[in-house]
Amino acid sequence: MSASTAGRVRVRDDLAGMVPYGAPQLDVPVRLNTNETPYAVPPAVLDDLADAVRGLELHRYPDREATELRQALALHTGHGVEGTWAANGSNECLQQLLLAFAGPGRSALVVEPTYAMHSLLARATGTGVVTRIQARDRLLDPAAAADLVAEAATDLTFWCSPNNPTGEATGAEVLAAVCAAAPGVVVVDEAYGEFGRSHAAALLSRFPNLVVTRTFSKAFRMAGLRLGYLLADPAVVDGVRLVRLPYHLSALTQVVGLRALHHKGVLMSHVVATERERERVAAALDAMPGVRVLPSDANFLCFETPVDPRRLWQGLLDRGVLVRDVSRYPTLERHLRVTVGTPAEDDAFLTALTQELPR
Ligand code: PMP
Repeated sequence: MSASTAGRVRVRDDLAGMVPYGAPQLDVPVRLNTNETPYAVPPAVLDDLADAVRGLELHRYPDREATELRQALALHTGHGVEGTWAANGSNECLQQLLLAFAGPGRSALVVEPTYAMHSLLARATGTGVVTRIQARDRLLDPAAAADLVAEAATDLTFWCSPNNPTGEATGAEVLAAVCAAAPGVVVVDEAYGEFGRSHAAALLSRFPNLVVTRTFSKAFRMAGLRLGYLLADPAVVDGVRLVRLPYHLSALTQVVGLRALHHKGVLMSHVVATERERERVAAALDAMPGVRVLPSDANFLCFETPVDPRRLWQGLLDRGVLVRDVSRYPTLERHLRVTVGTPAEDDAFLTALTQELPR
């Protein structure tokens, strides 16, 4: 801080001490720490996207309602367009939901261990965070889940399925129990929904308080696009409209997202192979002495080893493999998380891990 800003540039008291969120972006040969798809967008698809961009009137503001894109998303999901909304990544959807339905004087439930942005976005929007910790050895049944959300009594409930960083998906009965028992909005974060069996959208017609958020960043292999969307009752979208920035979704994002949906077959074609590869890596991890891997419906695996996780993370990095250290999350004290990559990347990871583990 320079002398002229000292005392005058003062971050909000409730943000003091926070650190910016983000995994290290390091230039290493094998990057398995942010759960993207390892396969590039095929050149023919990129050419088509470039054509779509060429046709834009960039001197004009984009459609504030992103109507064409939302119509295409509604068609893609089988949900009504009035209840379909798009934003810059599902993170922005989550932020808009907090701004509209939580915020100062209200609260949000976060069941840890889960995606760290849920509590960070809640804090950033002035929302009170109510935390509950879920033991790894006893996943919730519908009655226990209902008790949990009813007792927490928050204005907004986050529910991540498949859960990041652990990987397990929540069954439809548990999700229905959560929606029925929660006193406010239930946000089911399905960033990894395409990898397992996605359950939440089928419940939308029964529960007007349910919101499902999804993204183009994972299975859709377009993390660089920054496009996410939500499916909900139209009243939820009306609430989000009150807090969105005007023209929040650029013309480029809208047109590329729209055109990308035409290519969804190609873009998502890796999903079956990724799921098969996940099971191969999980079996290899399980066969290593002292290693335990959690069941996963996503494109990553969370695993426990006998080695200090911080040292193991560094050891793998020194061998050119970047994974995620999740050992600071409650109940995951000895765990790391690895994204499923290409078979060659996964082999490099497994080899490096074997070399790092005690013989
Ligand atoms: N939800 C979960 C569970 C995630 O893991 C991520 C990305 N790591 C997101 C949401 C946000 O993704 P994006 O903003 O790229 O859509």
